[in-house]
Amino acid sequence: MSAQPRVVVVGGGIAGLSAAFRLQQAGCETVVLESAGPEMTGGRMATVNVSGFAVNRAATILIHSYRELIRLIAAAGLAGEVVPGGDLFGLVRGGRVDRVRLGSRRQLATGGLLTSFPLGDIAKLLRDYRRVRPLLTPHDMSPMAAADFESVHQYATRRGLRPETLEYLLDPLVSGLCLGEPEEVSAAMPFVFLDVILFGGGFFTSKDGVGFLPKGLARQLTVEHHAQVTSVEERGEEVAVTWHRPGEAEHLETAAACVLAVPPPQVPHLYGQLTADQREFLDDAPYARSIHVAFGLDRPTAERAMLVQASRVEHPDLCAFVLEHNLSPQRVPEGAGLVMTHLRGAWSDRNWDLGDDKVVDHVLAGVRRMGILPELERHTTMTHIWRVSPCLIGRRPGDYRAIARFAAGCDPRGRVQLAGGDILGHSTTNSSVASGERAARNLVARLRTEGTLTPERR
Ligand SMILES: Cc1cc2nc3c(=O)[nH]c(=O)nc-3n(C[C@H](O)[C@H](O)[C@H](O)COP(=O)(O)OP(=O)(O)OC[C@H]3O[C@@H](n4cnc5c(N)ncnc54)[C@H](O)[C@@H]3O)c2cc1C
Repeated sequence: MSAQPRVVVVGGGIAGLSAAFRLQQAGCETVVLESAGPEMTGGRMATVNVSGFAVNRAATILIHSYRELIRLIAAAGLAGEVVPGGDLFGLVRGGRVDRVRLGSRRQLATGGLLTSFPLGDIAKLLRDYRRVRPLLTPHDMSPMAAADFESVHQYATRRGLRPETLEYLLDPLVSGLCLGEPEEVSAAMPFVFLDVILFGGGFFTSKDGVGFLPKGLARQLTVEHHAQVTSVEERGEEVAVTWHRPGEAEHLETAAACVLAVPPPQVPHLYGQLTADQREFLDDAPYARSIHVAFGLDRPTAERAMLVQASRVEHPDLCAFVLEHNLSPQRVPEGAGLVMTHLRGAWSDRNWDLGDDKVVDHVLAGVRRMGILPELERHTTMTHIWRVSPCLIGRRPGDYRAIARFAAGCDPRGRVQLAGGDILGHSTTNSSVASGERAARNLVARLRTEGTLTPERR
């Protein structure tokens, strides 16, 4: 038989939408089941309108090194929506912001940011980066297991790096990627940041925020919103998916295959056909929680950088600032500014239930103490607080070996494929796109082999 096999995709984040788009392109009939409403299309890649500001819910920085994501934008016919986002990156140091353009590696190494650290330390970091670079792949970090035996702090000690390099370079790179601490996360994390962001060649965006991509994909797909999936079960030649929508009777979908694109700890609750080891790996995903605050301003900031990172020496809780109006002036009302402020995961954990006013006060006291972004205190017209959990994965020492074991146990021919950068990769939109596309490729190969999907035309 050769027809249009039905594939159910659970989760309408960017991983699920990428998988559904590629499956549909290959000739499958797809439906995406998403528990949230249409305004949250894209999950952690959603953008919502708040008082005329296009505010990203979580992801906000898209980088020229995101090859899979850029290819997907083109394939979905959305390249016309992309606008350049600039390339100025800043690090807070002693009350000032040191800036560098993220053009090329040479520029970075000679352009002021890295040269302000001891030369010997930078040479060691770059040498180690060259060694681990081939191991850093967006969809599956298993190869990194070979170099995963210590924390960032232990790495800095073993390599004899100066305290200032640990505190002012490695710490911001770690917190920028996962909101974590150098003592807790694997030494691989700063190299991921170097690879993806510092050496990534600058930023791009859209005038509607990062949500343009999930929204653009969703327009071309069948997406059921407010569809809370409760179970996924392989039954012989089929997969049965049960879901609920408030006020409706229980729905049962049967399909030839399924992509499960929800954060890892939610997978075992939906899909029982896992081994005990797989269940433990997914349950144990080391997520941070995040409280972050968007400040709408009546003017842009004097600061010109797009992304500013801060060491814990400068402030124990505040770690990153995205100056959205510098990334894309079209995202804010004319003449206005928009700054997203990020707090470390440990602070968000401790203060998860803190009232909104107190969170805003804490951020304002923080920027005052650091001596940066004075406009937040004087020119704010709107604040919007996001509490996102699960948020970002901070891999601990040994986690890459666990990833390698888990990946080895996944069946690429299974009818149920998992997707999401947080499973085998890291928490970036590109990693999620790459994982969604890989899930789609695996299913297409299987469905073609068993003859339920028409072979590719040559
Ligand atoms: C604060 C923050 C800042 C970030 N900044 C960046 C950045 O600047 N650049 C970058 O590239 N990445 C960034 N990231 C990471 C990026 O946002 C994520 O890695 C990526 O968007 C995850 O996509 P996903 O599809 O794998 O997961 P999600 O976006 O979480 O999608 C999962 C979807 O599944 C749905 N779902 C869950 N359970 C069910 C169920 N039972 N039934 C139906 N649906 C269900 C959820 O509602 C959700 O929509 C950031 C993340 C955070 C939290």
